[in-house]
Amino acid sequence: MLDTLRVSDAEVYALLMEEQQRQSRCLRLIPSENYASAAVMEATGSWLTNKYAEGYPHKRYYEGQQITDRIETLAQDRAKALFGADHANVQPYSGSVANLAAYAAFAQPGETIMGLSLPFGGHLTHGWKVSATGRFFKAIQYTLDDQGRLDYDQIEDLARQHRPKVIVSGATAYPRLIDFKAFADIAERVGAVHITDMAHIAGLVAGGAHPSPIPHAGAVTTTTHKSLRGPRGAMILCHSDHAAAIDKAVFPGLQGGPHMHTISAIAVALGEASTKSFAEYAHQIVKNARRLAEKLIEYGFDLVSGGTDNHLILIDLRNKNLPGKKLSQALDRANIVTNYNTIPNDPAKPFNPSGLRLGTPAVTTRGMKEEQMDAIAGFIHRVAEYVDDESAIARIGAEVAEFCAGFTVPPMFIDRGD
Ligand SMILES: *Cc1c(COP(=O)(O)O)cnc(C)c1O
Repeated sequence: MLDTLRVSDAEVYALLMEEQQRQSRCLRLIPSENYASAAVMEATGSWLTNKYAEGYPHKRYYEGQQITDRIETLAQDRAKALFGADHANVQPYSGSVANLAAYAAFAQPGETIMGLSLPFGGHLTHGWKVSATGRFFKAIQYTLDDQGRLDYDQIEDLARQHRPKVIVSGATAYPRLIDFKAFADIAERVGAVHITDMAHIAGLVAGGAHPSPIPHAGAVTTTTHKSLRGPRGAMILCHSDHAAAIDKAVFPGLQGGPHMHTISAIAVALGEASTKSFAEYAHQIVKNARRLAEKLIEYGFDLVSGGTDNHLILIDLRNKNLPGKKLSQALDRANIVTNYNTIPNDPAKPFNPSGLRLGTPAVTTRGMKEEQMDAIAGFIHRVAEYVDDESAIARIGAEVAEFCAGFTVPPMFIDRGD
């Protein structure tokens, strides 16, 4: 495939090769990123790119669905088996659409939904004001306590006061376990549907390294490209009671033709995620994050909530007198890729917040273990110490690239030896 591209479009080919090199040269610590396998990427680029399949298996609006029906059913069956769900919709184009669809299944426009506020670690699509989820619904936002933890009493008080149709659990920058049962109990007491967005932790849940929300949520949304290590896409898992409403909200409610090439790659990723080696991978992600957190604390970094239970770490940089953006940009120049982030109750402005977010799914895919986490913490510490010294940053960057060279990344495509 890439051989054809090299000949037909040298310009795009060259850019893709540069990106492949960047991904292998850098320590990729953005907690929502990963390295999909070559098999997942091959499936993503197949003949299914050419196929329209509006509708669901055996209920399509176009002919020629002999193979697509089997592929989508296979993806659904694998999702249900892996997560223990009654029903799976594998069509959402991405996590954002999956969330909007899940809310639309249970709430009318203008009705109330409730989710974690963005600057406290919630996702845009948990009802933040600039998102359609905050504009089309009346969004109530809960926050965190002074320790940076979910405050279930506050959530219950808000729920009793505002009587939302939907309560969302799940986050994009929360380093601790989430008590899905507590959310379910609150939702039940106020007559709301509990929806969990497990986008970040889906791979941990699949591998048994994080409690599953499935028994406690009316519907569970997830992306497939983060810790689950599949193609860019999403799924909604739900109880059979809610299957019809969820399916209708996705198609025809929000989407047209499903991305069958992505759905085939989701099936591949779910197959990979059902293996023993993936379960080991999921547990190693958590062990690595814990070790990285311990070492960062030894270097004097303050961590929001004091550590991590999952794949993610949020550094509060105020004691270092270093804005998140300044550090994340210096780290990027040193081949360490993270993102700046707000911290709970951030005194700084959102475009220049006080935090740095990092995580271990991608480096764990490369085979890195606790020993490498010690080295990574050391690199981060040195960049923070020498943040204004460009020659020091360049030296660290060269060391990082050499360090990374010892760890393979999944090849973009199978090497045919030419
Ligand atoms: C990444 C993420 C999403 C959105 O996924 P996209 O595929 O980027 O649209 C939704 N919710 C959470 C919690 C996320 O982390």
